[in-house]
Amino acid sequence: MAPIQFQVGEKYFTANTKTLTEGSAWFKSLFSGSDKLVLKEDGTIFIDRDGDLFAIVLRYLRSQKVPVFYNKIYGHNHLLYDQLLTEARFYQISYLVYYLENRFYAGYVASVKVEILGLDHGVDVPLPDRDDDTDVQYYPQWCRKEVYVCPRRVAVHRGNPGGCGRECRAAQGDRPLEYEDEWVLKTTEIRTQTILKHNMDSVKP
Ligand SMILES: [Zn+2]
Repeated sequence: MAPIQFQVGEKYFTANTKTLTEGSAWFKSLFSGSDKLVLKEDGTIFIDRDGDLFAIVLRYLRSQKVPVFYNKIYGHNHLLYDQLLTEARFYQISYLVYYLENRFYAGYVASVKVEILGLDHGVDVPLPDRDDDTDVQYYPQWCRKEVYVCPRRVAVHRGNPGGCGRECRAAQGDRPLEYEDEWVLKTTEIRTQTILKHNMDSVKP
């Protein structure tokens, strides 16, 4: 069967009739000669519903994969779930209604993984990326640290005994190695990764 073109709200769609009628009792009734069919002047089917929401509905009808609207900062988008539920009821898509009414999407945030890293330096804190699934927090802290001091006070040998050569060792003689306390910046980095069970196949009722 040839795909049909139709308009929902301000948006145009093309889909196989089978895709629409298999999952939606409303479309099934529409294409079985009901009086709900509204045609525009050019013959295009017009459905007076929200086109953006229908795009999500159609994605579900095509893939059978339930939608998850989750963002690590704001959590689940309950407004969008609610709007989608209204559409799912209108188009009479039984499993999508069941899924949304029972808030099964809550189970799709599988786990949160936390990693703690100690860094021997300060960091330029990057701006958070909302689409990234990992949230990173930095806790910089000044700490005292013993630092090796070159007997000849050569700056590049400081903190690096291996940098000292024969002349330094001669200057050292029998004296013990010298250390000084120094304030150093250390950073604890905490990475929190949200793991979603995305694109799990929905179970047909
Ligand atoms: Zn040295």
